[in-house]
Order: sequence, then structure tokens, then C-alpha cells
Amino acid sequence: MILTTSLFHLLQQRFADQLSLITCSKATLVHISHTLEDLVLRQKLPALLLTGFQESSHWRKETERYRALAEIAHQVCVFAGRPLPQDGPASQLFIPLAEGDPLRQEWFVIILCGEFSVLLCGQDNLAPAPEESLRQFSTLLTFQPEQILPVLDILEGVIAAYRPETLAQFQAARRRFPPSAPNPALISRFTTDLLAYEERLQGYLRTSLDELQQVHQQLQQAQARQIALGVERARVTMLEQFVGDASHDLRTPITNLQSSLYLLRHAKTASERERYLSKLDGLAQHMQTLVESLLDMSALDQAQTLTLQPLQLSELLGNLAEDISLTLQERQQRLQVRLPGAPALILGHSNHLARAILNILHNASRYSLPHTTVTLSLVIQGNNACITIQDEGIGIAQEDQPRIFERFFRVDQARSMASGGTGLGLAITQKIIQIHGGQIEVSSAPGEGATFYITLPLAPQR
Ligand code: ADP
Repeated sequence: MILTTSLFHLLQQRFADQLSLITCSKATLVHISHTLEDLVLRQKLPALLLTGFQESSHWRKETERYRALAEIAHQVCVFAGRPLPQDGPASQLFIPLAEGDPLRQEWFVIILCGEFSVLLCGQDNLAPAPEESLRQFSTLLTFQPEQILPVLDILEGVIAAYRPETLAQFQAARRRFPPSAPNPALISRFTTDLLAYEERLQGYLRTSLDELQQVHQQLQQAQARQIALGVERARVTMLEQFVGDASHDLRTPITNLQSSLYLLRHAKTASERERYLSKLDGLAQHMQTLVESLLDMSALDQAQTLTLQPLQLSELLGNLAEDISLTLQERQQRLQVRLPGAPALILGHSNHLARAILNILHNASRYSLPHTTVTLSLVIQGNNACITIQDEGIGIAQEDQPRIFERFFRVDQARSMASGGTGLGLAITQKIIQIHGGQIEVSSAPGEGATFYITLPLAPQR
């Protein structure tokens, strides 16, 4: 007889909802099979054992186990794979299946002994799996003789078809071990074994999880170290660049200082001496500004954060407008101030913020001609305070706009130095605004003035 359906489907058709089905991996299926076989092995229970594997390789891997079982039980092995070696203990009993036989997709174990009868049957779901042990099987497990009986009849038909010479031997074994109701003690042992396995598995999973977490932590630490190293390297490179630029910018006024000193020493008239003295005064002032700016820059680099206090921005801007108005008047420039009536409370550092905004106001004046207007305004937009400083000066070309915030970048060095510039003002300003959680942007066109926009977050409302 050649089967037309698998054992699993046949049982499903006949016993429908009486069967409890689960989907389990091949690893679990192997484990349940072992637990059942161990019941026979441990108590040396005489039994009829029928096993069906997709591959004879499983039998080969477990040779010792089947050799031990063969000493106790009458074994019938149904294989889909290659035949067993001739000298194996079950070599007389195996049944090689034909291509296309539905049994080829199944894994089953039937144990019949005086103490219990059991059938474990798994049907391969034939879904791709990352590894063999994780292949999924629809599985049923039954201890009920009436469900085991029809399977035995079918297997007898299979033996009659494939190995008729062993049929009589099998029928004799069947008569000796008719399916019987299970001994409750053995069922308890089986359940306990499975529970112990479940516990071991959980323990193993916990350890694996702990190990995984440790590895994850180590990875995170390594990553943090890498990032810190990268940041440090970038800092060092920036510092080297900064020191290089700074020494260049210090050297220029020192050279000028030396030549002015030389000229002073050799001056012949009082007015000549006066001229060089005033030049020296200017140079000394420039160097003082430069050194102060360098110190500010490095202090801000070190600090990264500042202690911020609640601050009324309109008040601060009003005071700054007063401070700068005299300078603008001297240069015959006009200042227009538009501040809102409503308070604009931010969290800020008043000295640093004042320094940042004054830098831009001074630039607006320095890079503009007399009879022009500088406008300072503040508006509240959503959760932000937006400060705008607009001038009618020489403007900045599109390509230079992103660079003006770089340390020591100047569009026109001579012009910048002539008005006491150090090339550090906007870099310091941007740093301060960023520390306040804000942003600074510029929009400009040559000859059409420049507008600087500063956005600062308002203090959270209580
Ligand atoms: P500096 O001390 O040279 O003014 P800053 O960092 O303050 O240095 O500004 C960098 C450069 O950006 C200046 O040298 C100048 O070329 C340009 N710049 C800044 N503000 C203005 C402005 N309002 N109008 C035109 N150019 C400006």
C-alpha cells in the first residue's frame, strides 16, 4: 500500500478538534522524542518503538541512543533518506520510502509498552528557516489508544508495501504491545521532565540575555570611547589651527609695533614722534583687544555651558542701544530701535549675551558709511525671541556668508584691521548664541547692507 496522505492529515481528518495541535521547531520535536524514549530507556521497559525521520542522518547522529533502545525495544524505523549501514542495530528494520511518499515530510515517534502508548507526529511546514533546528513543524502529541490505532494500521500497510518480509515480525510485536491507557505515574514523569527542560531553557535564555546585554554594554562603551576619541582629535586639530591662526594674527601687529618703535627712535621732529606714539597706542590697543578675544574664545571653548539666569531681553537690548548710540553718533550714523512692549523673558548670561549682540552692532557700524541707519529690533515668534540687526553698509557676498563665522575669517583684512577688527567677533558671537540654545544667520548682498538674525528660546512658562 502506498500512502496518499500524511499521518498528520489523516489524524486531523479523523479526530478533528479532539487533537491539540502546536507548531514547534525541529529542536523541540527532537527534545520531546528524546524525553519519551528516555521513559523506556531509564526503566528498561520492553516496547515496540516506531520512528520516522525525514533523514537517516538523524538516526546516524543518535546511533548510541538507538543502539541502547534496540537492546530493550522492538524497533521499526521509517526513513525518507538513504539506507542505514548494514551493521547498524536497526538495519534490518528500516523502511526506505519512495519519492513523493507523504511520510517523507513527517517526523514521528510511536512507543507502545505495558505502561503507556504515545504518538508524537510532526508535519514539516516546509517554510524556509535560518537553520535546520529552527524548521517549523505542525505537531500533535497523543496518549490515547484509539488515536494511535489507525496510525498503526497505516504503518502496517506501509511495511507490507515496502518491506513485506518484516511484516510477520511487526504483526507479532503489535500483538505483544497493544495500545494501552497510560500509567499516570509515567505521564507525571514525562511532564516533569518537560518542565525541567523548560526551566533549563529559561535559565539558558536568561544567561544568554545577560551575556547579550553585557556585550551590548561593552559595544556601547567602545562606541562612546571611539566618539570621545574622535571629538578629542577634532578638538586638537581645531586647537592647532586656532593656535596657528592666532600666532599669525599676533605677529602682524608685533611687526608693526617693532617698525613703529624703530621709526620713533629715529624720529627727528616732535610731530613725527607724536605720530609714531599714537600709532603705537593704536597697535597696543589692537593687541589688547586681540588677546582679550583669544582669552574669551578659549574660555568659551573650555566652558561649553554657562550658568543661565532669567533675563528680560528687551531691557538688555534697550541698555545696549544706549551704549552703542554714542559710537554711532560719532560716526554720523543713526540707530533705530524697535522693542516690543511685552516682556521677553529668556534664560541667559547677560554679560556674554551683551557681548555677542554688541559685536554685531559694532560690525553694523564699522562696515557702514556715515549717514546710514542701523536698526535693532525684537519680535516674539512662538516660543522664540527673534533679534534682527540690520545695516545699510557694504554687505557681504553670498559665497562669504557661511565663512564669516569662522575664526579669523575676514572678507577684507585691511578694512577689518583698520577698524580694530580681530576676525574673532562673529565666531565668539556664534559660540555664545549656541550655548544659549539659539541660532544666528545672515542675509546680505554686496552694497545692500547686511541683516543678522538671532533666535533665542524663550524661558519655559511655569
Ligand atoms: P572682524 O573683527 O574682522 O570684524 P568678525 O568676526 O566680527 O571679525 O567678522 C568677520 C568678517 O565678516 C569681517 O571681517 C567682515 O568681513 C564681515 N562682516 C561682519 N559683519 C559685517 C557687516 N555688518 N557688514 C559687512 N561685513 C561684515
